[in-house]
Amino acid sequence: MSLLEVRNLFVRYRGHSGAVVTAVAGCDIDVEEGQIVALVGESGCGKSSLGKAAVGLISPAGGSVTFDGAPVEPLGRKARPPAQRRLQMVFQDPFSSLNPRRPIGDLIADGLRVAAGHGGTLRSVGECLERVGLSAGIADRFPHQFSGGQRQRIAIARALAADPRCIVADEPISALDASAQASIANLLVDLVADLRVGLLFISHDLSIVRRIADVTTVMYLGKIVERAPSEALWARPAHPYSRGLIGAITEPDGEGRLPDDLPGDVPDPVAPPPGCRFHPRCPIAIERCAVEEPAFRAIVPGRMAACHLAETLLA
Ligand code: SF4
Ligand code: MG
Repeated sequence: MSLLEVRNLFVRYRGHSGAVVTAVAGCDIDVEEGQIVALVGESGCGKSSLGKAAVGLISPAGGSVTFDGAPVEPLGRKARPPAQRRLQMVFQDPFSSLNPRRPIGDLIADGLRVAAGHGGTLRSVGECLERVGLSAGIADRFPHQFSGGQRQRIAIARALAADPRCIVADEPISALDASAQASIANLLVDLVADLRVGLLFISHDLSIVRRIADVTTVMYLGKIVERAPSEALWARPAHPYSRGLIGAITEPDGEGRLPDDLPGDVPDPVAPPPGCRFHPRCPIAIERCAVEEPAFRAIVPGRMAACHLAETLLA
């Protein structure tokens, strides 16, 4: 059993029009100890919903999430079960995820109190700050006194204080400038290597994903369409959508962003296309694709994809 195991997860919510949107439509994810698993896809594909449901911040409409062998309980009014506190989340926006009225040392001390129950490895606020490359002497300052990159380090220190075994990071570098992005990505890589935490790294920045993720998972319109060791995925994607995304990072702009030039628009998630959800945009679609949904299945050992023609793409 994996450290974090998401099985056939569904997340639904009511959209602006009142219609029900299935943001996550039956997804599986596995994160192992000491592993970086990236979850990539265009904005609005359901990545954040999946991440939030994985840590219990939103209630799934179906399926299950297991962390360290126990079901993840959605966080309602009940206090979080102690074991589940070792599953932490880091958010995109360090400006809004830190309470502006409390000195950062207090925010980190909250995490340490959580960890005290099971004898966490980091014992003091200063140790947590130093672990993320900040000075122990800044604990009495407030979040607004720091840059974006420093704030994200503080948010990571707060997560580390709870002695996590797994961290779900939702676009943790997207709000930062390029140099802060690289240094936060490096920090995450170091922490995974040193502390053996599992990291689910949700991102649309493929150049960073390519550099840091052990396994890359590609999501399209609420579904996982491919999962593979990152090297294998970049060498030869098995799904036409992954191929489109990866094609994008070799563009001369070198931005490593998702493309605007995949054919067609992202379909309305309220009424996803029948058959393969990607078929209206897929350059190699066949008749079958419009009527039969491809199963997410093993295509070669260690690789999974949801495409009727995946074997042809790998051949
Ligand atoms: Fe394209 Fe068909 Fe594969 Fe979907 S199943 S990605 S439409 S080839
Ligand atoms: Mg998002």
